[in-house]
Amino acid sequence: MATFHVPLKKTVDDSYDIEIGFNLFSTLINDLKNGLFPKANKLALITDSNVLPLYASNVILAIKEEGFNIELFDMPAGEHSKTRETKIRIEDEMLDKGFGRDSAIIALGGGVVSDLAGYLAGTFGRGIPFINYSTTLLSAADASVGGKTAVDTPHATNLIGLFNQPQKVYIDIATWSTLPDREVRAGLAETIKHACLADSAFFTWLEENITRIASTKDAKLDAEACEFIAEANCRIKYDVVSRDEKEANLRQILNLGHTAGRAMETLFEYQLLHGECVAVGLSIQALLANKLELISDEEHQRIDALIALCGLPTIVPEEITTAKLVEKMYTDKKVRSGQIRFVLMDGIGSMKTFENGSYTKALTDEFLIET
Ligand code: NAD
Ligand code: MG
Repeated sequence: MATFHVPLKKTVDDSYDIEIGFNLFSTLINDLKNGLFPKANKLALITDSNVLPLYASNVILAIKEEGFNIELFDMPAGEHSKTRETKIRIEDEMLDKGFGRDSAIIALGGGVVSDLAGYLAGTFGRGIPFINYSTTLLSAADASVGGKTAVDTPHATNLIGLFNQPQKVYIDIATWSTLPDREVRAGLAETIKHACLADSAFFTWLEENITRIASTKDAKLDAEACEFIAEANCRIKYDVVSRDEKEANLRQILNLGHTAGRAMETLFEYQLLHGECVAVGLSIQALLANKLELISDEEHQRIDALIALCGLPTIVPEEITTAKLVEKMYTDKKVRSGQIRFVLMDGIGSMKTFENGSYTKALTDEFLIET
């Protein structure tokens, strides 16, 4: 018998730029011309059935006009498409069309497209480069940045995937103008999450300004306010991710609102939007923090009020009992040794570390069912 040690050095530079602005398709095309993907001879544009007629068909023509070899791959819009089956189908279509290791992927759309396309890029030919061109407020706030990619399974969301960083991210605020109001609101849930976990001044700004973007009635999309939140979201998420890319510890705080939120999303079979479930999850995590006397009654009320101000839900719809929700939470990726773990605020803009230096605390069934 012999043991060989294989000393490997990490030589890959995963850093990338996030471009935030209005109408960034020409920037993307310029970047392609300037060698964004230096080794790619073929480009795959992955999108969904809503984004295709709105943006993808024009952008693909414009990219072709510049002499690039680009093909379109689409999927039906919605969370139901974020599956291993869709990934396999697109992979097979790419292989049929001669895509190989000299290819690159442009993910054009919201979080469903970027999560699936980023995962696909990470395994196709053992990994080809990709960019995210984000067209939803939710993916601008969260999904397009940070390098988590995944697909859902019938057990729960995002269970199968990779950490895989894009070459670049484009956050095109102009595309938000075609989003349905409900999607705009859903995006604001991740924005409120960021303010809760890292920035009390941003939270106060949202209390004063969130209705410039969405209220209980409609979406308004004041350009300056949209740009402000796009930048704040990136700053907060980037700051956490750059300090803990692979979720060794600090990155756990980005799961605020997601423990109950993800369970709700699965129980409702994606009839409710990710952001709507995160809104309820945030409210539950605020309630638990309040019960543990980590946040005051006033802070708890401010969080619920801000969620409600932009027309998002704060309570679990009647169809789902607390017991059922708790049962589903046991499938969460954060469950360790059979215990559900929550990240908890210890003030607006601040997260609590627990005894072991971790940001999560295990809470028992009984404690949760009382909520
Ligand atoms: P989505 O991609 O399904 O987009 C929402 C809806 O808006 C879809 O119907 C889509 O077709 C439509 N749409 C997209 N852009 C549009 C536009 N400009 N105009 C009109 N319609 C448009 O979902 P999402 O809300 O962007 O993101 C939710 C997904 O992101 C979930 O799957 C969630 O798990 C994932 N996510 C991932 C991360 C991560 O770190 N990877 C973080 C947060 C969320
Ligand atoms: Mg999320």
